[in-house]
Parts: sequence; structure tokens; C-alpha cells
Amino acid sequence: MYPKSLKKLIDHFASLPSVGPKMAERLVLYLFKQDKEKLADFSQSLIDLKENLTYCQRCGNLSEGDLCEICKDKSRNQNIVCVVEEPLDIIAIEKTRKYNGAYHVLGGVLELGNSNNNLRLKELENRVKERNVEEVILATNPTTEGDATALYVTRILKPFNIKITRLARGLATGGDIEYADEITLSSALTNRREM
Ligand SMILES: [Zn+2]
Repeated sequence: MYPKSLKKLIDHFASLPSVGPKMAERLVLYLFKQDKEKLADFSQSLIDLKENLTYCQRCGNLSEGDLCEICKDKSRNQNIVCVVEEPLDIIAIEKTRKYNGAYHVLGGVLELGNSNNNLRLKELENRVKERNVEEVILATNPTTEGDATALYVTRILKPFNIKITRLARGLATGGDIEYADEITLSSALTNRREM
């Protein structure tokens, strides 16, 4: 039913999170109506995504060099580290403009019954050990797994005698920091409590 080149692109779009087959069709038809230069620019951006973008070696944030803009920024308090699940959580917290410390991206949460994970926990431990960290703020999502992960990180970091805090409740349980509104998120940050 579809010409081959259309079908292939629709399949690509339909494979993206939250995009169903109907939406994929609409997007592809929309793109077809655009001029050639715009599409060339769009496809170049897709190629650049893997050419120029990598993970920050210190915090795991998305970065265009060895260190991300936040880790390089000397005006930020690098001794406070906010631990998040994914890079998009950093963007949500940055939007509140209430936080001037650094971050650490875990890359997910602990999954029940699966101790063999790829979370960047060792990196966090080393950072606390070597970089004069004074406070770690646990900003994993308020879900069962997010809470379990926060407890686990607390246990790992206890021996270092630093301040460990967790975002205040007020964020909907089971919710996602990435989608929290700025006011809720900044109050959760301001009212963070000690673990
Ligand atoms: Zn970084």
C-alpha cells in the first residue's frame, strides 16, 4: 500500500517511544511536504547526534566534550552533587533555576532481583571519595524502584560521612521528575530532607 521509501520511514518513526503507527504516518507526510533543504538539515542533525554527542566523563550528562557544561562551570558549587536517573531529569531541575550544584546521572534505577546492573554507582562512590563532595541530593523518581535506589545509594555513601538528602515529597508518588512542573520541583528541592 505505501511506496517503499515511505514505508521505511514510517517504520522508523513508529519505533520511537510514544509514537504510534498513525502518528508516524502523519509525521512522515508532514516531512514530505517540507522543502529539500529543511529535510537535509534534519537528516544532518540525526547524523551529528552520534558524531558530536557523548556522555560527560565525570557526571554522565550528555556532553559535546569530555566534560559537560555544568561540570566545567566554575561558578557552580561542584561540592554538591544531585543524583538523578537520566540526563532529562537534569534539564527538568535546571528549569527551576533553584539549583547551582553539580549532577550525577545513574543511568537508571535498581531493578528488583537484578543485582547485575550498569548503574554508575562506582563512579559516584569514587567522586565522593576523591572530589571533596559535601552533600549528595538523591533525586531519583518517587517510585518504588526510585526509593529503593535512593536507599541503596545512601548505604553505599554512609561511610563517607557526608550530608545525604532526598527530594521532599510533594512530587506525586509514582511520578516522574522529568514531567514534574517547575514549582513542585523547586519546592521538593528546597524542602529536601536528610536521609
Ligand atoms: Zn558533567
